Order: sequence, then C-alpha cells, then structure tokens
Amino acid sequence: MREVHRMRQNARRFGHNPPMSEPVDCPCGSDCPYAGCCGPLHAGEPAATAEALMRSRYSAYVLGLEAYLLASWHRSTRPAALNLGQQKPATRWHGLKVLRYHSVDANNAFVEFVAKFKVGGGSMQRLRELSRFKREDGHWYYIGGEWSA
Ligand SMILES: [Zn+2]
Repeated sequence: MREVHRMRQNARRFGHNPPMSEPVDCPCGSDCPYAGCCGPLHAGEPAATAEALMRSRYSAYVLGLEAYLLASWHRSTRPAALNLGQQKPATRWHGLKVLRYHSVDANNAFVEFVAKFKVGGGSMQRLRELSRFKREDGHWYYIGGEWSA
C-alpha cells in the first residue's frame, strides 16, 4: 500500500486532517454512511474512480476540508489557497447530483454534476459543472471545470 502511504504524506504536507466530528450520512448524497463513502478518501485512501473523487471533493466543500481539496487538485491548476473559512457570506451546500460520467481512457475522465447551494441567507442556486479529472501514479486529480446555467 505504498500509494496510500504517499497520499497520507501528501495529506500531511497540505496540513490535512479528517473532520473533527464525522457525519453519519455522507454529504455527497450517496445514501451510504460517510465512513464507507467519502470518509476513507478524506483519510488518505486513493479514489477508485474520478466520480468517487468528485463526490469526495463535494463532501470536502460541505465539511470545509480545504487541505483535501488542495491535495486532490492537479498541481498544474491548483490554487494556492481557497480560504473557505474566510468567505463572507459563507456558501452552504445543499445537495449533489451526478448527471454524467464519461471515461475518456484509463487516466482521463469527465464528470458532469449539479450542486445546490446558498450564499448567506440568499435563495437556492444551482451550479452545473463539467469537471475534468486526470489520473497520475494511481491518483485521480481535479483539473478544472466548465460551468453552465
Ligand atoms: Zn460520499
């Protein structure tokens, strides 16, 4: 399990820690317990598919796991920081729906999804994104996305 070990090292490098109090139901809306869904990925296990990584990144936004979001972002497009805790008003996420999963080849995939969110006390909004993922050395990474209304 050399890969897991390296992911853990990466996670440490980014100051990653699993959430203090783990949710029971996974925030990604899979109807699975967090401990059997996105939780292990947040703890350092590699995602089996780009869709699993995408789901774990959505859950990380819900839980405010900025270090995980940075660690799963491809180094070519990764921002220096997200400053999730400093957003005012804060964004709250209210649901994820994966619309489409498209595997280009073993190491490239697209996932299209809709995420619902509110900013501060505002009304519900929808973000529709076609995200691109790339696998390197057995790890999926988020490259970027295109948004549509
Ligand atoms: Zn999940």
